[in-house]
Amino acid sequence: MPGRCRSASRLRRVPWDPLTPEQAELRDLVRTLARERVAPRAAEIDASHEFPWDLVELFREQGVFGLLFDEEWGGTGTGTLLALVAIEEVAKVCATTSLLLAGQELASLGLKLAGTQEQKRRYLPRFASGELLGAYALTEAGSGSDSAAMRMTARREGGEYVLDGGKRFITNAGVAGLYTVFAKTDPDAGHDGISAFLVEADAPGFAVARLEPKMGIAGSTTGELVFDGCRVPAENLLGAEGEGFRLAMRILDRSRPGIAAQALGIAQGATDYALEYAKHRETMGKPIGQHQLIAAKLADMETKCEAARGLLYRFGLMVDAGAPDEELTKASAMAKLYCSDVAMEVTTEAVQILGGYGYIKEYPVERMMRDAKITQIYEGTNEIQRLVIAREMLREQRAFLLAAVT
Ligand SMILES: Cc1cc2nc3c(=O)[nH]c(=O)nc-3n(C[C@H](O)[C@H](O)[C@H](O)COP(=O)(O)OP(=O)(O)OC[C@H]3O[C@@H](n4cnc5c(N)ncnc54)[C@H](O)[C@@H]3O)c2cc1C
Repeated sequence: MPGRCRSASRLRRVPWDPLTPEQAELRDLVRTLARERVAPRAAEIDASHEFPWDLVELFREQGVFGLLFDEEWGGTGTGTLLALVAIEEVAKVCATTSLLLAGQELASLGLKLAGTQEQKRRYLPRFASGELLGAYALTEAGSGSDSAAMRMTARREGGEYVLDGGKRFITNAGVAGLYTVFAKTDPDAGHDGISAFLVEADAPGFAVARLEPKMGIAGSTTGELVFDGCRVPAENLLGAEGEGFRLAMRILDRSRPGIAAQALGIAQGATDYALEYAKHRETMGKPIGQHQLIAAKLADMETKCEAARGLLYRFGLMVDAGAPDEELTKASAMAKLYCSDVAMEVTTEAVQILGGYGYIKEYPVERMMRDAKITQIYEGTNEIQRLVIAREMLREQRAFLLAAVT
């Protein structure tokens, strides 16, 4: 069977990896940075609740923010898959620091998708270098999942818009230089009355009212924004008036996989740590990894991570292949749903494998478990992801049936 031998040896020499050699080289650089420079800071960031400006500086120096942007804007132009892989690599060691990348992507997607050339020229190169950090402000105290129920308004006055209202739970509050903010320009028009605006941090009438203490991702700021007659130039309207809600959803379709990547990184980091621990911790005369109940946990954890990775990388490959928006919604929601559920399950099992040591702060798995929880909540809860997936399934079926009868 010479043919079989040839293909088997080819498979052995080229293990499955969807990254090109250039992308794999960049992935390895990020992995090394994460292990050598980010990992030693993770416990400290968690304990101090301080925003990691030193790691922002590291990412600026090393051009890591550039992985999220096209060459035209000063980025690497290396695509979505590699950007997701970079977030995953950083999240393996520190979820807060991985949010520097996922948050920057969320904050800049509005510009990438709907910005004018002038708006892009003004902000994207500064986002790509990391000089400017961004934020995405959709949620309000009374409207999270039901974002169209927002109360914030924007009215046109001559060459300006005047924004009034508040936003809640905004990542990068107080550290961002530019906020993408959604407000109602026509409060009676439902979804069609919402518009998006670029608000610079020093805009008159804008303030960060407070930062929230949290269960996890402790070094990331989450804050309340106040807009009290906040004035922005009319040219800071992002997209057309009334297009804001659709833009907010298009942004989330593309940003949610960043959270999936964060979740997968946390899950894989916890699995790797638990595996090492299980090799060395002995009970009843042998390493706990050789007790079948622990071995089964490890096997399930690794398998779930790999399955989650399949959904996540598929999304990256779809975007890089130019898949249209309508094909991304379901793939994005599935990646976010599955990766974050896996993160919660796997980190809980990692704590269990470490026994009492898993519960104390000297070991990283309790931090990973706390960090994992938010991935099931932000950028759309997992209940909402399930609704989105089911809606898309029904839409696909209707489209199929319509095509069959016409
Ligand atoms: C740390 C952190 C960072 C965040 N960062 C940002 C940010 O940068 N920008 C931003 O805009 N927002 C941000 N958020 C807000 C986040 O996206 C919302 O909290 C989230 O979407 C849920 O909204 P909510 O809190 O109002 O919950 P609710 O919408 O009140 O939901 C409460 C519960 O009901 C469920 N539920 C709601 N509606 C339905 C339904 N139709 N069917 C079934 N179940 C339903 C939800 O799944 C949830 O379990 C952040 C939140 C946190 C905690």
